[in-house]
Amino acid sequence: MLQVHNLEVVYDDVMLVLRGVSLAVPPGDIVALLGANGAGKSTLLRALTGLLDVHRGRIARGTVTLDGQPVTGLRPAQLVKRGITQVMEGRRIFGELTVEENLRLGGHTNPRQLRQRLGHVFTLFPVLADRRRGTAGYLSGGEQQMLAMGRALMSDPRYLLLDEPSLGLAPRLVDQVRDLIVEINRSGTGVLLVEQNATMALSIASHGYVMETGKVVLDKPAAELLADEDIREFYLGLSAVGAGGDGAQRRSFRDVKHYK
Ligand code: ATP
Repeated sequence: MLQVHNLEVVYDDVMLVLRGVSLAVPPGDIVALLGANGAGKSTLLRALTGLLDVHRGRIARGTVTLDGQPVTGLRPAQLVKRGITQVMEGRRIFGELTVEENLRLGGHTNPRQLRQRLGHVFTLFPVLADRRRGTAGYLSGGEQQMLAMGRALMSDPRYLLLDEPSLGLAPRLVDQVRDLIVEINRSGTGVLLVEQNATMALSIASHGYVMETGKVVLDKPAAELLADEDIREFYLGLSAVGAGGDGAQRRSFRDVKHYK
């Protein structure tokens, strides 16, 4: 189990951005993490993958544990070795390298299994196999998202953290990415899925967390969140008063609560 206990994160030693966040990803589960822009979702992922210091952030309090063992503040490479790997938002691939070179970079912590992992990734993403010698920068947006996911899978993660994998993709590709997450999870990989697309995330997750201004404000089984009228109104734009309502224009989830 990957767990976060009462985590506090500060940027530049002064800006307290996470204010006591606790969350759990059981092995083999998909957990959705929702929240408006600036709620602190990316910061939480950075804390889980050792990438805070790149952004002048640090964990001020709290712990991260993997199967009960503390892994708080470990370097990114150490965390990858222990099985925690992130697919970056904005699918940061190396555009000048080939598809296969990008994948091989993702497998460097596990060189003995490189060929086997490549085979696994090419089976999951046949389009990457077809384009393996092609320049990654020429792939379409959807294909680049698949390459970013494939590269993360090269390290054979026990826990895969995804930051907005559907961002900017056409609906057909969003469906494809969703199916791939389900497929990846089927082989036993736990998934923490950060998404603005709450419908997609909650449709495949077993549990969901909603963050707002650095705190978890809701923590429920995904099916309950999907059925929750406030969540539907604010995140899914589907209020009982009329589908496609003005939820997106409200500044915060709490505004919905006050408004009701
Ligand atoms: P988004 O979807 O917009 O990325 P988010 O929920 O992932 O939102 P974060 O990116 O974690 O939110 O940001 C949380 C807060 O921390 C925001 O107020 C943001 O301005 C601030 N923040 C993020 N990165 C830094 C940084 N490197 N230095 C200072 N403040 C930061």
